[in-house]
Amino acid sequence: MPQPFSPPRQWSLIALLLVLLGCGFLATSLASYYTALESIRSGIINTELPLTSDNVYSEIQKDLVRPILISSMMSRDTYMRDWVLGGEQDVEQITRYLREVQEHYGTVTSFFVSDKSTTYYQAKGVLKQVNPSEPRDSWYFRVRDMQAPYEISVDADMANQDRLTVFINYKVFDYEKRFIGATGVGLTVDAVVKLIDTYQERYNRSVFFVDTDGRLVLTGASGGPLGAKVGQSLSELPGLEELMAKLPHPQSGDFEYQEHGREHFLNVRFIPELNWYLFVDKHENGALAGIRKSLYVNLLICLLVTVIVISLVSVALRRYQQRITALATTDLLTELPNRRGFNLLANQAVQEARRGHSPLCALLLDLDNFKQLNDSQGHLAGDEVLRGFAANLQSAVRQADIICRWGGEEFILLLKDTPIEQARELGEKIRQQTEQSSFSYNGGELRITTSIGLTQLQPDEVLDQLIARADRALYRAKQSGRNRLCEETA
Ligand code: GH3
Ligand code: MG
Ligand code: MG
Repeated sequence: MPQPFSPPRQWSLIALLLVLLGCGFLATSLASYYTALESIRSGIINTELPLTSDNVYSEIQKDLVRPILISSMMSRDTYMRDWVLGGEQDVEQITRYLREVQEHYGTVTSFFVSDKSTTYYQAKGVLKQVNPSEPRDSWYFRVRDMQAPYEISVDADMANQDRLTVFINYKVFDYEKRFIGATGVGLTVDAVVKLIDTYQERYNRSVFFVDTDGRLVLTGASGGPLGAKVGQSLSELPGLEELMAKLPHPQSGDFEYQEHGREHFLNVRFIPELNWYLFVDKHENGALAGIRKSLYVNLLICLLVTVIVISLVSVALRRYQQRITALATTDLLTELPNRRGFNLLANQAVQEARRGHSPLCALLLDLDNFKQLNDSQGHLAGDEVLRGFAANLQSAVRQADIICRWGGEEFILLLKDTPIEQARELGEKIRQQTEQSSFSYNGGELRITTSIGLTQLQPDEVLDQLIARADRALYRAKQSGRNRLCEETA
């Protein structure tokens, strides 16, 4: 069966468009996502975290470095050393000295522990005797045996509502460099803790201090990373075990690590005065969730635009397709189906008639002496007659009948389910109507007649055989004088 039109390439075109749009949108969305990601990442690593670290560092310097200097001065104070070497005679003298230091420098406490008498002096007088078997005094014996001149230790001060207190414990030597005791001050780190909390709450980053053994020494009020408490080792925290292996020596820098699938950005700064690390940690969820969300919104918009574009294109293509098909199967002058359109319908009708054993008749019509009309009245007049004849023909047949401009001034009618008598009647009616019709053109009247060949489909016949016989009948009609209907039976 001949096809009126090559099968549509619509779907491959739409698929190509879909791939192009999808790839284009995806590429631009991902490119802008990764650019934003990189700029946020570099903003966090190169600006945000170091800035936080600087601020916290300068605050801790204010809070801790000064007391270290005070403790250092106390440890070298000749007055205090002379008093110890003089046999710790007048307790009031050392108490006054410690009180002066405490009040003048605004520390929480100030103390001296004598190695000889094991007496713990503070601003209010003698506190106690230190004892190696007492766990709370272990710090003193640790300080006595350590190499470094001083240490910083963080403890909850039980005498002070458990406030986090930082003790600076300095070794005191006599003039022959023999160890005679430990002195120093204790202070709260409220300001630093407050600052840490501000950063944690407002900027969604965690700030904490870690000693060289990897233990948390100072955190905000809510604790360290993953709620870890002061004293806990980082090696116990998921994601951070590896990190601590990288920090056996004082080492500052930027790090990235994963914790439960979350990316963390970390700035580590070694603070030599404290022998601690300052950690400023920000996890990606807070920082990148926004741009990830905008990526999803972007992709959603792209998907929507793609769907809209594809739907519009496929509707336009379908309409275009229908229009092309209609154009390809319709005769422009008479608006009747052309041969291509006729073939589609006629073959189907022949098959149906054969299957249903129903009568099918063909009428082939040819206008008489049309060349003459063209020659005498002009080609446009001929066109007008063709149009008018076609319109008359169309109105004479039923909806189900198949009508076609076969070519030139020839037309064909296929009458479904119609016995030959009925077809003959219709053919005769058309012939008479044509004879009696006139078509106005340029103020004049044009007349025409038609010759008609009629035949009926025989069993096992194909369309071409039917038409060939109708053509023979038409030939006879022309031969026998025109303006008549001739019949050809098998
Ligand atoms: P006959 O009675 O034997 O059919 O004579 P005829 O002149 O009708 O036959 P012929 O086949 O010699 O001439 C047909 C003419 O129809 C020739 C051609 O120029 C003209 N024709 C074909 N198509 C068109 C058309 O679209 N418009 C016009 N105006 N003329 C057409
Ligand atoms: Mg002809
Ligand atoms: Mg003719």
